[in-house]
Amino acid sequence: MSIPPGSTIGIVGGGQLGRMLAMAAAQLGYRCHVYAPDPGCVAAEVAADFTEGAFDDEGALTRFAAEIDVATYEFENIAAGPLAALAELVPLYPPVDALRVSQDRLEEKNFIARYGGRPAPFAEVNDRAGLDAALAEIGTPAILKTRRFGYDGKGQIRIDAREEAEAAWDAVRGAPSVLEGFVRFDAEFSILLCRNAEDQVRIWAAPRNRHDGGILVESSVPAGADLAAAIAEGEALARRVADALDHVGVMAMEFFAAGGACLFNEMAPRVHNSGHWTIEGARTSQFENHIRAICGLPLGATDLTTPRVEMRNLVGAEADGWAEILADPAAHLHLYGKTDARPGRKMGHVTRLLD
Ligand code: AMP
Repeated sequence: MSIPPGSTIGIVGGGQLGRMLAMAAAQLGYRCHVYAPDPGCVAAEVAADFTEGAFDDEGALTRFAAEIDVATYEFENIAAGPLAALAELVPLYPPVDALRVSQDRLEEKNFIARYGGRPAPFAEVNDRAGLDAALAEIGTPAILKTRRFGYDGKGQIRIDAREEAEAAWDAVRGAPSVLEGFVRFDAEFSILLCRNAEDQVRIWAAPRNRHDGGILVESSVPAGADLAAAIAEGEALARRVADALDHVGVMAMEFFAAGGACLFNEMAPRVHNSGHWTIEGARTSQFENHIRAICGLPLGATDLTTPRVEMRNLVGAEADGWAEILADPAAHLHLYGKTDARPGRKMGHVTRLLD
């Protein structure tokens, strides 16, 4: 059953992903109603309606459900319970199961391994003694990551020697975690896939990604012939996982390419920073195809519009250089309307279409 243009799409979450989803939805004639705890959020600025509410407030989510025709979410650090309650009242995509899997790093790795994915070596850590045992098993260097609520490098700490275990355990505040072996990767890339309820699947060219301090700096497409085999493996895995979850909407999977191998890092049941280049660089953007998928519309083509595309994030004060960026005819500037340019905060991005 399709949800026709003119209907109202509920977006849970108020960040830049919600903002760009709302802008894509508006182009197709939909109204968006944003639900978030912060009335000053950047998604609400470009949406028709806004409801202020905590992500775990089932009463407020129930009232929100009465005002929308379909719901989606734009980040995964939301308790699955209240969202499952919302899904009882209104169609919600991607399915809550996709959220459940991706919001727990341990569950995610075990799930991916069942479908043939290869995560970096990892061990579960539940207490201080468990961290010593995990370090003995995995070795150093390693990265301790909280199972839940991590993003942009938050909730993770590198351990170079066993003596650093105490400090690392303090840094994650004793939260249930996983210890991952440090991967000496040749490159990082991501697979961006969109699937609709009719099993139609579209995949964009995989971007090669560069991170600094856990934050995405740059995505470039095409990723390069050296990554072709790893990308093919990643694409096949993403298709299997999307089918298994009966996924509807965009799904992103991040990988390390290391010595020809394709190692799974993490997945997100949503539009993704490494897919922002698709707004100008692909025939249909990740945001538009996500809206099409959740509304039951046919998906658009994902071919490149130009031979090469580069997307750079504007982090913190980098966004102050907007005038210079605008002077470059190849550049498409996106600013998210955030007022407080804190260090490490994603303020915007710039996409360059290249020959
Ligand atoms: P994550 O939040 O887990 O995606 O981590 C953010 C970034 O930190 C990754 O994209 C990598 O650049 C780096 N990183 C995370 N885990 C590892 C690892 N096990 N080995 C090497 N680098 C890592």
